[in-house]
Order: sequence, then structure tokens, then C-alpha cells
Amino acid sequence: MSGIRLDIVTAERVVYSEEVDMVIAPGVEGQLGILPHHTPLMTTLQAGELRVKKGGEEVSLAISGGFLEVRPDRVVVLADAAERAEEIDMARAEAAKRRAQQWLTERPSGIDETRAEVALRRSLARLKVVAVVKRRRKPAA
Ligand code: ATP
Repeated sequence: MSGIRLDIVTAERVVYSEEVDMVIAPGVEGQLGILPHHTPLMTTLQAGELRVKKGGEEVSLAISGGFLEVRPDRVVVLADAAERAEEIDMARAEAAKRRAQQWLTERPSGIDETRAEVALRRSLARLKVVAVVKRRRKPAA
């Protein structure tokens, strides 16, 4: 079976570029599954886990929102930020989560609630990806 090329890029770097079997992306309206020969499409992503299936293996990345474009020959994700699981600094993500939760509970004056919610979602996406990959690596009991 022929796959589809997936390029995940940010303003700074190419985060992932490989031939894959399937992409499951965090669309703003829910999970978006893309197989080879998908109809061309352009859509917005929210912060979340992006899953890649490739040769029976699964890879998870944290995406901080952006755009996804399905082209005839590839899927391009233009992400605000993106990290592979092994690049995620858990302590930093935990700190970001606590900070965002504090903003949302204490609501200091001048707080931009939407910004705090989006920051919380970014931190949760990072923590989720680390947790998912840890679980996957655990040998079956
Ligand atoms: P923080 O509040 O910790 O800066 P943030 O969600 O505001 O987190 P972003 O603006 O999404 O951070 O990202 C800024 C840069 O830092 C990006 O290059 C992103 O990949 C990287 N980054 C952010 N958080 C982490 C993390 N926990 N582990 C690894 N890289 C991170």
C-alpha cells in the first residue's frame, strides 16, 4: 500500500517529514483522520495530540494549533509549535499548566481568559503526548 508524505513544519524548523500510512490530527471541530488519496482540504488545528500511523507503529506529537493542508501528494501541517514526545520538557509543561490554571481560577485583573485557556490546552497536549508514549512503551504484562 502506498502511503502519504507528512510534513510538519513551524516557522523555525521541520519537525517531522516522512512517508506515513495515516494521520489523525486535532481539528478545531474534532479528530481528523487522513488516509492516502484524501480529498484536498485546508483546515484549522487546535492544540492537541497529532497521531501518525506508519508500518504498524504509532508516533504522537504535540501540536499547538495551526493549519493542515491536504495536497494531492502530501499533507502539510503548519504548526504554531510542535514537538515530538522525546522533545517535550515535562516540568516546563507542568509549570505552564499550573500557571494557566491559576490564571483561570484567580482571574487577576487584565487576564485574557481565552489566552489562558489556549495556554492550558497547549500544556495538556504536551503532557498527554508524554503520557501516551510512556504507556505505549510499557511492555505488556
Ligand atoms: P511556556 O509557557 O512554557 O513557554 P508555551 O505553551 O507558551 O509554554 P509555546 O509558545 O507554545 O510555549 O512554544 C514556544 C517554544 O517553546 C516552541 O518552540 C515550543 O516547541 C517550545 N516549547 C514550549 N513548551 C515546551 C515543552 N514543555 N517542552 C519542549 N518544548 C516546549
